[in-house]
Amino acid sequence: MRTFAYERATSLAQAAERASEPGAMLYAGGTTMLDLIKLGVYRPQRVIDITFLEDPALRTIEVAGGTLRLGALVKMNQAAEDATVKDRAPVLSESLWLAATQQLRHMATLGGNVMQRTRDTYFRHPDWLDLADGDAAEVETYGNTPYGDGRLTTVRQPTRLSAVLGTTETDTASYPGDFAQGLVAFDAVIEITGPDGAREMPFADLHVRPADKANEGDYARLAPGEVITAFRVPLSPALARSTYVKARDRASYAFANASAAVGLEMDGDAVADVRIGLGGVATVPWRAAAAEDVLRGGPLTEETMRAAAEAAFADAVTHEANAFKVPLGRNVIVQALTTLTRMEG
Ligand SMILES: Cc1cc2nc3c(=O)[nH]c(=O)nc-3n(C[C@H](O)[C@H](O)[C@H](O)COP(=O)(O)OP(=O)(O)OC[C@H]3O[C@@H](n4cnc5c(N)ncnc54)[C@H](O)[C@@H]3O)c2cc1C
Repeated sequence: MRTFAYERATSLAQAAERASEPGAMLYAGGTTMLDLIKLGVYRPQRVIDITFLEDPALRTIEVAGGTLRLGALVKMNQAAEDATVKDRAPVLSESLWLAATQQLRHMATLGGNVMQRTRDTYFRHPDWLDLADGDAAEVETYGNTPYGDGRLTTVRQPTRLSAVLGTTETDTASYPGDFAQGLVAFDAVIEITGPDGAREMPFADLHVRPADKANEGDYARLAPGEVITAFRVPLSPALARSTYVKARDRASYAFANASAAVGLEMDGDAVADVRIGLGGVATVPWRAAAAEDVLRGGPLTEETMRAAAEAAFADAVTHEANAFKVPLGRNVIVQALTTLTRMEG
């Protein structure tokens, strides 16, 4: 059995400082971290628990200056049930309602949710070692030369979970979360505190696409010790008229095979603004900009919706196991847009 030290952070600054040390990892709800520790994928020497931090900025949901701000320690169920989120950003509430289970949503935080890792099989394979595990010798062997001994190639064959957008020949791991699609579609910004102070970053820049990875284990653009403290989402008519459609194997307790976070603003018969974020089909939370371009400024009809859905997957690369994601992904886009046409806005 691997052992690790457990520490309760007493302040945000202290958490950032302690988590920046080699072998340390932040710990929030623990709902995905503990699984990965048990599997030996994560091998922290120390976990820094941030869930006892009292700072209201980490725990509250508020509207200020035309922005919806959600603290990173807000629990998934808290945001899902929040009246302001439901009213001003229904896509975010719905995406959280459709994620995981009630028990998990009561434990899991928004910060931890966006930092969850792929559910693709290879990542849970005992031979897979993440760069965050702090075990330098093994990381060097497996992390930096992942195909050197041939074994990881075998476990990384595309599966039905794998992505069809944003992939490379050797990396098709899909991003699994639900909350992130609304954030990427509506230009959210994340607030970050690290050992060197505070900064902000567009949410769209957080996750690293396979083609941009310098090292196999690259995942998020956070420096050691950096803590996500909040998400800020600009309020807009399209955000108020938004929805989340998720297609999955079961009606509950399952990750998306394909999902769409969509918002719409009409000006008469023309689309004034449209936002489309896709989940379950891409390596990172995916903004379907080409699909938005098809719709913006024109009429919203069955034909234009279908054309937008086609455009969203024009660059898809499929394999036998995951080709079904393209028609499924197109259909969730059309379903979301159709739902929005029936909503007042
Ligand atoms: C059975 C099961 C089903 C699930 N189904 C879904 C689903 O359908 N949809 C979905 O979206 N998710 C699903 N999940 C994932 C679940 O939502 C995540 O486990 C949860 O959101 C993670 O949050 P947490 O607070 O528990 O994070 P933790 O497990 O504590 O941490 C996760 C990661 O985030 C890092 N981290 C945590 N907080 C911060 C922060 N503030 N700043 C920087 N890094 C941080 C940690 O270091 C760790 O690497 C499922 C999980 C399980 C176990």
